[in-house]
Amino acid sequence: MEIDFNKNNDGLVPAIIQDALTKNVLMLGYMNEEAYQKTVDTNRVTFFSRTKNRLWTKGEESGNFLNLVTIKNDCDQDTLLITVSPVGPTCHKGTDTCWDEDNIQKFGFLSDLEAVIKNRKENVDNDKSYVASLFKAGINKVAQKVGEEAVEVVIEAKDDNDDLFLNESADLLFHYLILLQAKDFSLKDIVKVLESRS
Ligand code: AMP
Ligand code: ZN
Ligand code: ZN
Ligand code: ZN
Repeated sequence: MEIDFNKNNDGLVPAIIQDALTKNVLMLGYMNEEAYQKTVDTNRVTFFSRTKNRLWTKGEESGNFLNLVTIKNDCDQDTLLITVSPVGPTCHKGTDTCWDEDNIQKFGFLSDLEAVIKNRKENVDNDKSYVASLFKAGINKVAQKVGEEAVEVVIEAKDDNDDLFLNESADLLFHYLILLQAKDFSLKDIVKVLESRS
């Protein structure tokens, strides 16, 4: 791979470290040519530490290594995107990422929606909330709603009205997310099962 190590006249390129599975950014480090070569040769991410002024294999003291998955050059060959499988927390402060985040799999808006649903489960006496009232009614009620919405999706699938089909599909997915929470599961548990099948 052709990497432009001399853009900054210091022999270093920044390397963005991303979890290969969750896609979260874990940390940022710098590599010189030797660090890059060692990373490729050992399959463990090695940086050039500007503080220590030497090669630094992430995890050399803590054991929290970054096992190499892929390395990509950017559009003008001066920044690396490295996907890894991390062993333990990446930040030396003990957090999963250097930005104090949990390295959990996220599904964009659906994860935000799951968080709202979870909040309603923990506050079932919120009288204004439809979701809270479903949790309060119990798991049979929630499961029944999923069944009803599934039937509505089936009915609309046979029709030509895209708008109705999409709306019933949204109803189904929404109530299914509630059912997962009612069973103390979440989307990530289902994705795990699907991934294990492929
Ligand atoms: P480690 O490489 O995990 O064995 O940690 C050794 C030392 O490297 C720590 O004591 C910190 O000084 C430094 N260090 C470890 N992880 C990070 C990180 N994610 N960002 C910056 N410095 C780090
Ligand atoms: Zn660039
Ligand atoms: Zn850190
Ligand atoms: Zn519906």
